Amino acid sequence: MRILIVEDEVKLAEALVRLASEENFQADMATDGEDGLQLATTVPYDAIILDRMLPGMSGTQIVQTLRSRGITTPVLMLTARDSISDRVEGLNAGADDYLIKPFATEELIARIRALVRRPGDFVPDQVIRHGTLQFDPQRRTIWTEPDREEILSPKESQILEMLIRHAGQVLTRQQLMDSVWGYEADVLEGVLDTYVHHLRRRLGAVNGPAIQTLRGVGYTLSKI
Ligand code: CA
Repeated sequence: MRILIVEDEVKLAEALVRLASEENFQADMATDGEDGLQLATTVPYDAIILDRMLPGMSGTQIVQTLRSRGITTPVLMLTARDSISDRVEGLNAGADDYLIKPFATEELIARIRALVRRPGDFVPDQVIRHGTLQFDPQRRTIWTEPDREEILSPKESQILEMLIRHAGQVLTRQQLMDSVWGYEADVLEGVLDTYVHHLRRRLGAVNGPAIQTLRGVGYTLSKI
């Protein structure tokens, strides 16, 4: 497992690198936004820990740039304590999770482990089928034809898994948010729509099924 830590407080960055190596992650470090983006676009990391406030380029800009280039590496954003709008902004930009500073190291490790689920860690052949759509939650990949795959972000993948497992039922926004975010679901109202929007685009790209919106209620995927 190889992770990237982008943090301009050098002491904190070094502490995170040490902590990561104790947990058997190989960790690289960048202390400004431009270096961070450079590494994130050239090295295939399993996850990126990204401070929001950085010199050169903000964490939000970095994650936006990565996503616009089709790079879906899971991103955990580090944000300041009292800024709910900053957190929502980060998630809207394409981050998968956030952690508020200061944080407990156990919490950080748990969040990273949740982000870096990989095929080798699990039994293979976990492909979920929904009509012509095939979905491998471990690889976070969807396809209808073998040579045309789309890779989902971790949150997109969790949302799709919920929708498929409950196909034919309406999932309320609250059910989806509780299942996908759990904690502090109340601050994430607009974020769910953004993820569903991205997920629809990816499903469209592989000629997958359409997610229906039930205004004011939630979302549903037709039963096959
Ligand atoms: Ca900072």
